Amino acid sequence: MSIENKLNHKLTLSKKEMQQYGYKIIDHIVDHFETQTTKKPVALASREEMDSLLTENIPDHPSPANEILDFVMKEIIPNSNIVSHPKSYSFVPGPSNYISVMADTIATGFNIFSGGWAASPAAAELEIVTMNWLLDIFGFPTKEGGGIFTSGGSMANLTALVTARRIKCGDDFSKATIYLSDQAHSSNIKAIKVIGFKKEQIRIIPTDIEFKISLNKLKNIIARDRLEGLQPFCIIASAGTTNTGTVDPLNEIADICEYENMWLHIDGAYGGAAILADKGQQLLKGIERADSLTVDPHKWFFQPYEIGCLLVKNHNWLRNTFSEKPEYLRDIEGNESEINFYDHGIQLTRRFRALKFYMSIKTFGLASFKKAITYNIDLAEQTEAFLRKSVLWEITSPATLAIINFRYNPIHQNLPEEELDHINQYISKKIIDSKEALLVTTVLQGQIVLRMCLINPRTTIDDIKNTLEKCELYGEEKTLEINHKTN
Ligand SMILES: *Cc1c(COP(=O)(O)O)cnc(C)c1O
Repeated sequence: MSIENKLNHKLTLSKKEMQQYGYKIIDHIVDHFETQTTKKPVALASREEMDSLLTENIPDHPSPANEILDFVMKEIIPNSNIVSHPKSYSFVPGPSNYISVMADTIATGFNIFSGGWAASPAAAELEIVTMNWLLDIFGFPTKEGGGIFTSGGSMANLTALVTARRIKCGDDFSKATIYLSDQAHSSNIKAIKVIGFKKEQIRIIPTDIEFKISLNKLKNIIARDRLEGLQPFCIIASAGTTNTGTVDPLNEIADICEYENMWLHIDGAYGGAAILADKGQQLLKGIERADSLTVDPHKWFFQPYEIGCLLVKNHNWLRNTFSEKPEYLRDIEGNESEINFYDHGIQLTRRFRALKFYMSIKTFGLASFKKAITYNIDLAEQTEAFLRKSVLWEITSPATLAIINFRYNPIHQNLPEEELDHINQYISKKIIDSKEALLVTTVLQGQIVLRMCLINPRTTIDDIKNTLEKCELYGEEKTLEINHKTN
């Protein structure tokens, strides 16, 4: 098929062209879902390589559509990590699912405006319905509670903190102080800065040996700030830190917030979904006491990017914070129950994010999601058990909400800390250079360690064992090199 390359100021294709072009793309996507496990998850390319591949001046003239599509599929798409690959262990993977991919295609294809009720009553209603599902899952009141889908966890955290500041401080937040642990996700600090807090208003609280926020230190600092006439207004607790999966003591922090009349924001971007598993539910006790809660469906609810979510105890808080009434939106305000989501968050024009969440949960059933998340938590525990049986590996942070941290540290070798750091960095570098697995390091209590986030339900224990075998070879290689040098 050749789609004509002539000037086309209406930006149209014929029916046949659209079909052929579209089917071809679907074939590529399906092929990706079918064959991704046989590919390597890591893409490595320098700026120079990408420049030489892609830099060009903006083209004034049309080109054949298929040529461009072929180029994209051949050169652009493969130069990205496959974050849904079973051996993509790093950061927080994006397992995704095909139904939601198609749902996103529908949302984009019909270009549904999900800002206000008038533009799409169905999109607004579906956001209300799916938000109620989430409120219910997390034990929030569905009647007074509310929420909004965002592009991701960073935007959800930002939306939460703007709301917290509005409700707790009003217009003057010059004396307000905010508290979070040294393990809290960086997007929180980013959000705090974005909304105009100065460094002197931010309190980073140290964590204990389990990476939980130190309650004693938290209380002391709040008390000291009160004595100094400051206004402690918000604590950010983590429900699943990105480093180790650690959940802060949520009930204790909620008690402090109640006592101190402070806002409790819980960042459960990756970890919140674990509430669907029995073990997760145990760990997340108290999450329902948050004033606001971030969860990121594009992580452990298996949605493709971008969908984050903010839940709040009282939906009026969002409207009171974000509602502005410009003249040109006057005619579409509608009645109170017909929610205009542009009044509940930062964006006016928004894509139809609720659709993929709705269609995938309906299609697979929540039971499938529960099973997947339970599987992931068990998989990390199996990995821990496997590592503990070996004389080569040491667990630095036990399997928690599907995250595990460990390092190569052969028993009896008594390698100095510095060498262990080198060896583990080397293992990560070698495995990434081989492109076999995406396995990067993190730093915990000053040690360089390897970290796996196992939220992909298609990762098997054999995938992990296979990766660890390779890591052991690299570890041995580096250890020999070091011993050779020192002897
Ligand atoms: C991933 C993550 C975020 C940021 O979410 P994005 O969707 O990447 O913007 C925030 N907090 C935690 C705990 C996370 O794991």
